[in-house]
Amino acid sequence: MPKKCIICNEEAAYKIKDTPDFYCEECAKENFADLDMLVKVEEEAQRLKKVLQEKMDELIKEEDRLKQLVKENDEITESNPNRED
Ligand SMILES: [Zn+2]
Repeated sequence: MPKKCIICNEEAAYKIKDTPDFYCEECAKENFADLDMLVKVEEEAQRLKKVLQEKMDELIKEEDRLKQLVKENDEITESNPNRED
């Protein structure tokens, strides 16, 4: 869902860093002489996407690692069916 400008309700293009406030380009320029304190919604979305992607990659790696552990454990069990503990 596209974010809306908190002033005019247009689709937002900017967001204030570390706040949930969104502004369209026009209102952002009107209210902030310095756009450096604003982040582009697009960039923020890309950043979040990257963070999520990295998390996903970590989870996939972790899952692979666990599968490998289970597989190794199965192999040990299979090769030692009468193993006494
Ligand atoms: Zn606006």
